[in-house]
Amino acid sequence: MDFAHSPRTQELLERLRSFHEREIVPREEAYHRKVLASRDPWREVSPAIEELKSCARDEGLWNLFLPPEASLAGEPIGAGLTNVEYAPLAEQMGRSLIAAEVCNCNAPDTGNMEVLLQFGSDEQQTRWLRPLLEGTIRSAFCMTEPDVASSDATNMQATATLDGDEVVINGRKWWSTGIGHPSCEALIFMGLTDPDADRYHQHSMVLVPRATPGVRVERMLSAMGFHDAPGGHGEVSFTDVCLPASAIIGGAGQAFAIAQARLGPGRVHHCMRLIGLAELALELACVRAGDRVAFGKPIANLGGNRERIADARIAIDQARLHVLHAAWLLDTGSPDALGAVSQIKVAVPSMAQRVVDMAIQLHGGAGLSDDYPLGAAWTIARALRLADGPDEVHRGVVARLELARHGIGRWAGAS
Ligand SMILES: Cc1cc2nc3c(=O)[nH]c(=O)nc-3n(C[C@H](O)[C@H](O)[C@H](O)COP(=O)(O)OP(=O)(O)OC[C@H]3O[C@@H](n4cnc5c(N)ncnc54)[C@H](O)[C@@H]3O)c2cc1C
Repeated sequence: MDFAHSPRTQELLERLRSFHEREIVPREEAYHRKVLASRDPWREVSPAIEELKSCARDEGLWNLFLPPEASLAGEPIGAGLTNVEYAPLAEQMGRSLIAAEVCNCNAPDTGNMEVLLQFGSDEQQTRWLRPLLEGTIRSAFCMTEPDVASSDATNMQATATLDGDEVVINGRKWWSTGIGHPSCEALIFMGLTDPDADRYHQHSMVLVPRATPGVRVERMLSAMGFHDAPGGHGEVSFTDVCLPASAIIGGAGQAFAIAQARLGPGRVHHCMRLIGLAELALELACVRAGDRVAFGKPIANLGGNRERIADARIAIDQARLHVLHAAWLLDTGSPDALGAVSQIKVAVPSMAQRVVDMAIQLHGGAGLSDDYPLGAAWTIARALRLADGPDEVHRGVVARLELARHGIGRWAGAS
């Protein structure tokens, strides 16, 4: 087994690291302070981010997430990296709260671009995918609903009703990430089309222009006090939103299949970035614990702090290997990828949450202040134990596969 990066990854990683040090680090803190101080961070497109995006694009650090086979109108697009090749780059981006957006590799746009690439019509690709790939617009994914348990994707009650050559949508969604961004123009909405169809073919995905009459952002939500501006997370109502039936993605009743396809790589990308976030937290913890003195000793030498630091290193390295293995299974088309993706989706956010928590503790009060990115990092890790499916649902997948190996349960005998 060769653990070395491919030459292409190595080269891109060096460029990304240099870009990070040179362009992102000097600007990131000021950017966050400006957003936090803004009374209405949902209105203004940040010139600082636009400038950084333009630099990243010029340096070829753009759309790195797209798989090797990605092409549009017959032309290859993106960096053409496998998941294993992309993982160290996503990890590097995870060290910053803005790098993924700057390199056009941020959720939910990446997942939405993948949906349009895989299932979008020519018209949808030209009108929406192209500007998303260019980074000139942004998007949101509107699946979760306040009124039903949305960890079960077949529960969605909002409707996407076919009426002649139109589709009419109604209902309420929440936790629609990115909807607050002033450039958010495209929404992917999941709604019930045919309640009489089998459970997995009742829903459709509809591409909704944000400006369509009847779409209304009711409020922006905060996650544990963080608004995550300027993209944020919104509660959105859809009232008699009328669109041509051609706005349906991949055909009526295909939403469940599309959601499954969308969330696979997206979950791996989240985990890759969380490894970078945990690395950043451990680095900050070591620096702080080495510099600051209490009871006559550096904090690193007090109590069980060395053990805590060692445990964090072990946990991060284990998680990275786990993620790389899942990425490799996805790249090789292995049927084991399903279980592996669910495994890392449980393991990595919990690992990151524990490591960041340890780093906060070693920082004392400073760890909870805005002077360090640790509060935001903890919230991101915690949120990812829910977003893209709660831990329990992924544990359910892992357990079903494990039991099936012993001939037990619904999945026994399934290939
Ligand atoms: C920061 C953030 C960003 C998000 N972004 C988006 C987005 O962009 N688009 C979008 O559509 N959604 C988004 N979500 C929503 C997220 O995907 C849902 O919150 C999640 O799928 C759970 O759905 P729910 O909140 O309805 O919880 P429910 O379905 O009500 O579940 C509540 C709890 O029940 C338990 N539970 C559920 N199923 C099982 C089971 N099988 N076994 C045991 N226990 C179980 C779990 O403890 C679970 O947390 C986001 C959420 C957060 C926090």
